[in-house]
Amino acid sequence: MNNDSLNRLKTLISNKTHRVCILLHTNPDGDSAGSSLGLYGYLKKEGFIEVDVVSPDELPAFLKWMPWTEVVTFANENPELAKQKILDADIIFCLDFNGYNRVNSLETTLSNAPGLKILVDHHPNPSSGFNLIFSEIHISSASELLYKLIAALGDESKIDKPIAECLYSGIITDTGSFSYGCNNPETYQITSKLIALGVDGEAIHNLIYNTNTFSRMRLLGHCLGEKLEIVEPGNAAFISLTQSELSNFDHQKGDTEGFVNYALKIQGIRLAAIFIEKKDHIKISFRSVGNVDVNLFAREFFSGGGHKNASGGKSVESLSDAVLKFKNLANSFISRF
Ligand code: 5GP
Ligand code: MN
Repeated sequence: MNNDSLNRLKTLISNKTHRVCILLHTNPDGDSAGSSLGLYGYLKKEGFIEVDVVSPDELPAFLKWMPWTEVVTFANENPELAKQKILDADIIFCLDFNGYNRVNSLETTLSNAPGLKILVDHHPNPSSGFNLIFSEIHISSASELLYKLIAALGDESKIDKPIAECLYSGIITDTGSFSYGCNNPETYQITSKLIALGVDGEAIHNLIYNTNTFSRMRLLGHCLGEKLEIVEPGNAAFISLTQSELSNFDHQKGDTEGFVNYALKIQGIRLAAIFIEKKDHIKISFRSVGNVDVNLFAREFFSGGGHKNASGGKSVESLSDAVLKFKNLANSFISRF
C-alpha cells in the first residue's frame, strides 16, 4: 500500500467534521455492500458525525440483513436526496468499483461532485478522476482490502463484530465461498481474525445462500433444464432469459445471481455467460476459468468490464442478437488464451 496515499488518508480522516459519503456500485453485490457498510461502521466508530451511504439501486434480498442497511439512501427510491448527499460530501468513498460509469444514474452527479474522491477497489484498470487511489487487483475483495487499509491506518483493533460481519460477507461472496480469487494465505488469515471477532460464518452462509424463494429455485431449474446451451466444440456455455420467462417465475432482484457459475461446472467449459433481458437492454454476466480474460471480453465486445474471471456488460441489441454475437465470438476469443 502506497505510503504517501496512506498518509494523505490519515490526515484527511483526522478531521471528524468532514462530511463523508460512501457510494455503492449499481446492482450492489455482497462485496459492494460489505465493504461500504463496513467502512460506515468504522467511520462512525472513529467519531465522524455525518456519514452517508448511497446506493444507485436496491439491495438483493439476501443482503438486506446486513448491519446498517437502514442508513442507506437508494437512488431508485429517492433520486434527489441521493444526489444531494453526494454533492454535499467533503469526502466521497468509492469501494468495489473502478469508474464513474459503475454508479448508473448517479454518474454525472459523482463526476460533478466537489468532494475529494477516494477509490478503494480491486478491479483492474481504475479510471482517472479519483483523488486518492487504493487499488489492489490481487486482493480477493474490496472488503479484504478495506480490512488491510484499516489495519495500515493503525486501527485494526477498532474492527468489531458488526464491521467484521460486513467484511466477512464481502469476502465470501466475492470468492464464491473460497472457491476462486483466494489462493492467498492472507485472505484466510484475515477471515480467521473476523471469525475470532465473533462472526458466525455458518449463520451468514445461511443468510446469504439458503434464503431462496421457491420461485427462484424453480427459475434455476428452468435455466439448467431448458436454457443452458453449449457452444460447439464445447468450451463455452450460456443461459439466456427473456422478460416473460423472468415474470413467469416471479423474478425478484438478485434471483439470477450466481446462475452463470453453473455453466462453468461443465467439464471443458472455459467461458460462460448469462443474458438477462431487461426493459431497455440486455444485462450480461461473464465468468471464466484460468487465463481466459473476461474483463477483456466484456470491454471489447459488450461495453463492460470487471475482473479477469468475472465480468459483466450490456447490449442494446435484441436478446437473440446479443446471444448470436456471443456464439460467433466465443471460440476465437477462447483460442487467444
Ligand atoms: P456480475 O456479473 O456479478 O454482475 O459482475 C461481475 C463483475 O463484473 C463484478 O466485479 C462487477 O463489478 C463487474 N461488472 C458487472 N457488470 C459490469 C459493467 O457493466 N461494467 C463494468 N465495468 N463492470 C461490470
Ligand atoms: Mn468486489
